[in-house]
Amino acid sequence: MTETSPIATAQILRTLHIVTWGCQMNVYDSARMADVLRPLGYRAVDTPDADMVILNTCHIRERASEKLFSELGRLRAVKDARGGAMTIAVAGCVAQAEGAEILARAPYVDVVVGSQAYHRLPALIAEVEAKRRAVVDTDFPAEQKFDHLPAQQASQGPIAFLAIQEGCDKFCTFCVVPYTRGAEQSRPAAAILAEAKRLVAGGAREIALLGQNVNAWHGDGLDGRTWPLARLLAELADIPGLARLRYTTSHPRDMDAALIAAHHDNPKLMPFLHLPVQSGSDAILQAMNRRHGVDLFRRIVADLRAARPDIALSSDFIVGFPGETDADFAATMHLVRETGFALAYSFKYSPRPGTPAAESPDQVPESLKNSRLQELQAVLREQQHDFNRAQIGRRFDVLFTGPGRHPGQMAGRSPYLQPVIVNTASLVPGTIHPVTIASANPNSLMATLNQEQIAA
Ligand code: SAM
Ligand code: SF4
Repeated sequence: MTETSPIATAQILRTLHIVTWGCQMNVYDSARMADVLRPLGYRAVDTPDADMVILNTCHIRERASEKLFSELGRLRAVKDARGGAMTIAVAGCVAQAEGAEILARAPYVDVVVGSQAYHRLPALIAEVEAKRRAVVDTDFPAEQKFDHLPAQQASQGPIAFLAIQEGCDKFCTFCVVPYTRGAEQSRPAAAILAEAKRLVAGGAREIALLGQNVNAWHGDGLDGRTWPLARLLAELADIPGLARLRYTTSHPRDMDAALIAAHHDNPKLMPFLHLPVQSGSDAILQAMNRRHGVDLFRRIVADLRAARPDIALSSDFIVGFPGETDADFAATMHLVRETGFALAYSFKYSPRPGTPAAESPDQVPESLKNSRLQELQAVLREQQHDFNRAQIGRRFDVLFTGPGRHPGQMAGRSPYLQPVIVNTASLVPGTIHPVTIASANPNSLMATLNQEQIAA
């Protein structure tokens, strides 16, 4: 495959529109695709009437392909109106899973590029232009994508995301990630620290480390040894100007003692952790191949709360996994009530082609999935609102990110990631100020600035 010279093409100005579905990792990938294409003269625009359009897809839950093909249908009309002068690329997990099938259904697509190959986009575009035919690259290349991406160029603002790990070796029986993202890979600490320093120089005060299984990170350390995540977090905490650290998404099996201790020892680690448990029933967890039981989850929560008493938790739940009985579902409800979550995401089980659970004969009827989801979400919503209300009167630091929705307001994020609004317009984005929470809505908090503002 031939490389395109960035210098040769840098003069041509072209427009690029990226549509992103799915998780934070996809948002990160879209930004990196823009970085890869910038040397070719591509500049991001907000409308699909562009020289190149990338649909960065997500395959986690149902209707992913229908959503893709209906969006492609709309794009085809735009491409036709431009006399065909548009390169359409499909990227991400649906591209990885469906590959050439996409071209069969939508022959006006030019590039299908999988999750691990998008650093090759310039070469793929060159191939399309030279050979005037579509290309598919869904390899899991031997070279690490991250080693072949340019340094992040656009500032992400006060809150930045940094991918440190990708892929997954856990093979939960409901999940496509091990197939669409490939085997677990950890980036070396040196590359992560260099990227973090660039992000901070570009204005980041908070960095969220990303990975499908982020706490399984075990990368080459600066001392030549393999580091665990807690060690990386300690090193990141030493970066001057960086005020806050987070990591997501974690798996209970990889919450080791050092990482739990980091929630006590690392002052920059925020007291909020997303730790998906999926179910409160051991039988279901086993059928999901989660490799942990309810007791391990309970123990981790207790240890985290002992290490950091003000820690708040969020989680993911799946209802209606094949074979889930009323008693299994009741066990989930029990675990939710017993644990208390500040936030949670809950989903109906969706059979993903190619995953073991999709083949199970014990599929749960849709109507039962619906009623269980409603019951679970009612309690989770109540817990979220209770958690927000419990903040009233509390004082904590808020990282302000920009103007609020209404004139004269500024918005920021609490240590627990809740949006916080103050009626003051004079704060500089990226500064941190202590506030007192005045009132709580289900999804956000209103606050007043405290007198003694910390130096930001
Ligand atoms: N690695 C994370 C973990 O192990 O918890 C989860 C990553 S997955 C991208 C995000 C969430 O999507 C999962 O926690 C799960 O709740 C949900 N999910 C994944 N596959 C699903 C499926 N087939 N049906 C319904 N929800 C699913
Ligand atoms: Fe999917 Fe997470 Fe399980 Fe990996 S650990 S297979 S990403 S749900």
